[in-house]
Amino acid sequence: MSRRYHSPFNGNRYIGNTNTNEVHDLDKEESSCQINRIKDSHVKTFIPDTHSQAKSEGFDNCAHCIGNSRY
Ligand SMILES: [Zn+2]
Repeated sequence: MSRRYHSPFNGNRYIGNTNTNEVHDLDKEESSCQINRIKDSHVKTFIPDTHSQAKSEGFDNCAHCIGNSRY
């Protein structure tokens, strides 16, 4: 699995799920991330497209693709 170039993903590496408040790294995506099951309305992209930006917006790491999840 890898980046998705259609809306609302638009090729971004870091994708937040506003339903779970977790951020995923699509370059390291695992099947357990279930990115394909995220509703489009729950997809959050970041400007800039960085992990630090996701963290600054309060997103927790996905335990599968990033690790060191707080919860
Ligand atoms: Zn993940």
